[in-house]
Amino acid sequence: MKVSAARRTELQHEVTPSTPTEDGRALPVTCSREDAAWIHETLRRAGLPATISRRLVLLLLRKHPVRHMSPEQLCAAMTRLPDATGISTFRRAIHELAHLNLLARIFVPSSGSGINFYELPDHPAHAHFYCTECRRIEEIHDDPLISLQNRRLLRHGLTPNALVQTAWVGLCAACQADGAIDISAR
Ligand SMILES: [Zn+2]
Ligand SMILES: [Zn+2]
Repeated sequence: MKVSAARRTELQHEVTPSTPTEDGRALPVTCSREDAAWIHETLRRAGLPATISRRLVLLLLRKHPVRHMSPEQLCAAMTRLPDATGISTFRRAIHELAHLNLLARIFVPSSGSGINFYELPDHPAHAHFYCTECRRIEEIHDDPLISLQNRRLLRHGLTPNALVQTAWVGLCAACQADGAIDISAR
């Protein structure tokens, strides 16, 4: 029986969590048959060919233990996958998927020109907080806060795009307990 290139790639992804990489470390993500079907369906509904780059972006954001990832983190994780592809094509796929609302973007107004993080838009509406010490994004699930913010904006005739957000910046509870000082305020 002939196996198509797309199916061969799916099969390659059907690895167990303990599958080692060449340097002996476990792969950071695995792709089950269900994940592969979801990825194909997501791209099909968006009318996009299921290129390897698009599939890897969706796979990483669906399966990587870190939910919110910057392009740099995504690229680093991608290069360790069995089907690693070119960095520039992969970066283009990230921006393209975000542009088509298949990804949500969280902008962190940090030093320099800021940092973008991406996630799948599959959680209920939430806000984000970026810790300048441990550099992690925390989700804030607080319906009254979100609806108050949206109501106030609507009163000004403004409709926020839920898939593009700016994060609050400061120190998370754990870093405050460790005595960290927010250098972003200086
Ligand atoms: Zn922290
Ligand atoms: Zn989030």
